[in-house]
Amino acid sequence: MQFMNQTFDAIASNLFHVKQSIADAARACTRSSDAIRLIAVSKGHPREAIAAVIAAGQKDFGESTTQDALPKISQLADPSIDWHFIGHLQTNKAKFIPGNFSWLHSLDSLDLARKLFRRAREKSATINILIEVNVTSDPKKHGIAPEALPDFIEKLLKENLPALPLRGLMTIAPHEAPEKEIRACFASLRRLRDDCQQRFGLKNFTELSMGMSGDYIEAIKEGSTMVRVGTAIFGERHYSTKY
Ligand SMILES: *Cc1c(COP(=O)(O)O)cnc(C)c1O
Repeated sequence: MQFMNQTFDAIASNLFHVKQSIADAARACTRSSDAIRLIAVSKGHPREAIAAVIAAGQKDFGESTTQDALPKISQLADPSIDWHFIGHLQTNKAKFIPGNFSWLHSLDSLDLARKLFRRAREKSATINILIEVNVTSDPKKHGIAPEALPDFIEKLLKENLPALPLRGLMTIAPHEAPEKEIRACFASLRRLRDDCQQRFGLKNFTELSMGMSGDYIEAIKEGSTMVRVGTAIFGERHYSTKY
């Protein structure tokens, strides 16, 4: 197992470097690094790799499909871990979220919210909700269009779903775009959060889930409170999972 141990040492060292870069980026824009939660995105990586990151002190993990995540969550069986569902969730998979995940980053329909609420209530669970926004209206991406967001939130509030506290917004920036474009996307999400927070008087609507391995520094500069980092911690994925 020499090779495996070396791999896991490398993962722990990657985690350390990512945390260091988060702290440096926060300091550079006079933010506190405590205000930025690192979510280690473990999709496509085995339970042993996750255990190595847990041993290095990491508490928040992200997964993007239920079939990949559920066996790992039950095998690790660690109640101190916060699991974040970050991928697109089909309504027929809503039943797997309560009891396994404490955060959902990708709410994008009323139907999904209703199904999640029913399942959460059955299990007396609470799921912190982030609404996914398709800031650049990319047809290949999921999420609510920016102009449809106020109406969507208004409808969610009318449904009165107390097991699903609305905590903020999530987005995925354009892939390999110029830095200016990426920053503009993140800045738009921040303004949308500020507007919705004010308009609806939502005092816990504070989170901005934005930034991945390739752009988390830019996201922090634009106010990200949650960065979702996979490859920079775990290395290349062993098998691919779609978004
Ligand atoms: C896979 C994934 C990430 C992590 O991507 P990396 O580039 O490996 O850091 C972040 N967010 C979402 C929604 C993902 O699906």
